[in-house]
Amino acid sequence: MAKVITITNQKGGVGKTTTSINLSYYLAKAGQKVLLVDLDPQGNASSGLGVDKNELQKTMSDLILGEATMSEIVLETKTKNLSIAPTTPDLADAEAEIAASEGARKFLMLRNAVKEVSEQYDYIIIDSPPSLSYLTVNGMLAADYVLIPVQTEFYALEGVAQLLKTMADVRKNNPSLQLLGVVATMYDRRTGLSSQVYAEVKKYFKDKVFETTIPRNVRLAEAPSHGVAIGQYDRFSKGAKAYKNLAQEVIERTK
Ligand code: ATP
Ligand code: MG
Repeated sequence: MAKVITITNQKGGVGKTTTSINLSYYLAKAGQKVLLVDLDPQGNASSGLGVDKNELQKTMSDLILGEATMSEIVLETKTKNLSIAPTTPDLADAEAEIAASEGARKFLMLRNAVKEVSEQYDYIIIDSPPSLSYLTVNGMLAADYVLIPVQTEFYALEGVAQLLKTMADVRKNNPSLQLLGVVATMYDRRTGLSSQVYAEVKKYFKDKVFETTIPRNVRLAEAPSHGVAIGQYDRFSKGAKAYKNLAQEVIERTK
C-alpha cells in the first residue's frame, strides 16, 4: 500500500510545487515507486515535469468528475519510478461543478482513485492549490500524511491555525491523517529574518519541523522551465542536496 502525502499550505508561493516535484524525484531516485498527483488547476507540477498539456487526453478534471480512472490518466516521466497524474486549468471548472453537486460521493473521488492504484506505488504525493478549497480537502481525505512547506519570510505562520483546523475537521472522516512534518523553504542564511522566522516555526511545530531546510536557490526556480526536477538540471546545487536530504527524512518518518 502506498503512503499518501499531501503537500498543503493555503498561502500561495511558499514552495508546495517545488517540494512536490523534487521530493517525488528524490524518492524515486531512492528506489521508491512514486506517483505525483497534480491537484492544482494551475498545473505547475505537470509543466514542471515536462508534461505537454496540449497532448493530454484525460486529466485530473476527468477523474474528479468520475469520467476517468487514475490508471487512465497517469503518465510516465523522464525519471524512472516517477509517474504523474497531470492537470490542466479546466480542473477549476470541474471543481466548481462537483463541489456544487449533491451527495457524499464528491468527497471521495480522489480517495477512491488513489486506492485504486495504491498497490502499484510506494508513495503518492499530492500537490495542492493555494486554498482550503474542495480540492485541498479532497487531498487530505485521500492522504495518510500532510506535509506543510512554510516560507521563511514575514507572515510565515499566517493561516497555519486555520490549516490545522481544516486537518482536524478532515480527521473526523479520515482518522488516520497525520501531520508528517513542516519544512522551511527559501531559507536564506545571510538574513537574520530567515533564522528568526525559522525559530518561530520551531517554537510552534517543535519536532515536527524537518531537520532539512530548503535554501533559497535560483537553480530550483530555473529547473521547471526546462521541464525537469532539480536533480536532472543541476544535481550539485544546494537545492538538489536539500531535497535529497528531505526525501531521506520523509522515508525515515514514514517507516
Ligand atoms: P502556489 O501556491 O502558486 O501553488 P507554491 O506554493 O506551489 O505556489 P512554488 O511554485 O513551488 O510555490 O514556488 C513559488 C515560486 O518560488 C516559484 O517561482 C518557484 O520556482 C520559486 N521557488 C520555490 N522554492 C524556491 C527556492 N528554494 N529557492 C528559490 N526559488 C524558489
Ligand atoms: Mg503550486
